[in-house]
Amino acid sequence: MTIAVGIVGCAGRMGKMLAKAVMDDNECCLSGGTENVDKFVGQDIGKLIGTEEIGRRVLDDTKELFNVSDVVIDFTTPKSTILNISVAKETETPLIIGTTGFSSKDDEFIRESVDRTVIVKSSNFSIGINIIQSEIEKISGMLGSQYDAEILEMHHRNKIDAPSGTAIDLGKAIANGRKQDFSEVARFIREGEIGKRQYGEIGFSTLRGGEIIGDHSVMFTSPNETIKFTHNAHSRSIFSDGAILAAKWSINAKAGLYSMQDVLRIS
Ligand code: NAD
Repeated sequence: MTIAVGIVGCAGRMGKMLAKAVMDDNECCLSGGTENVDKFVGQDIGKLIGTEEIGRRVLDDTKELFNVSDVVIDFTTPKSTILNISVAKETETPLIIGTTGFSSKDDEFIRESVDRTVIVKSSNFSIGINIIQSEIEKISGMLGSQYDAEILEMHHRNKIDAPSGTAIDLGKAIANGRKQDFSEVARFIREGEIGKRQYGEIGFSTLRGGEIIGDHSVMFTSPNETIKFTHNAHSRSIFSDGAILAAKWSINAKAGLYSMQDVLRIS
């Protein structure tokens, strides 16, 4: 069976990468793509992504896309994704969410929306980050709060949310490993006379510039040593490959909310 995969936001950095990766995958076919920017709507998707014309135009009607898709992949904005979840529910179509920057209210809405459909949501679909995240949870439990945990991330200048969803998830993994309440120990801002570092705090630093796809480092520092985990994304294909793997997996999953760690069976 060929899986018909639809792409919301098919003119975006990730959208184009995903559309091409779906077209190149033997087990999938591209059912279509949507955009909300007028200049892209009606264009041939092949032409948009730099291949030959494929005779499929960019749509502006999300429901039309869901109706012709076995699964839909969405790397857009929180506002767009929240609307798409309602269509996924209505059409009982699995939805793979790569969008980041959701509020806690959005996250609650997502958790409550999975009674009739499958949602796989991950702030980072790369295999490497998911393995690091799982290891960090174990290691931070062993090290405890005597090791100061700091997370540094750098992304391209057009990224609109900070810190990255991946940095937040890495922080949550540390808090889980140490059995802490993440909201109580996350330190997102340091400026001016901030006083001594508190034991157990998880610090976040954000850098933005150029075309950096996504760099993350997690550091555990004691008075005598630093343990450092670093992941550098060299190509957006690590995210599109992971999202397509999740799309294939979602077809046979029961209704519910899943992560990439579930797809990779490392949760
Ligand atoms: P982008 O701005 O290049 O692309 C987003 C696209 O979505 C744009 O073309 C925009 O026009 C389109 N869009 C917005 N609202 C829409 C709507 N209602 N209907 C249809 N299309 C709509 O951004 P990007 O770099 O591709 O990143 C997109 C999202 O994916 C961000 O939240 C980013 O943080 C996230 N991201 C996640 C991963 C991951 O592995 N989970 C990896 C990379 C990026």
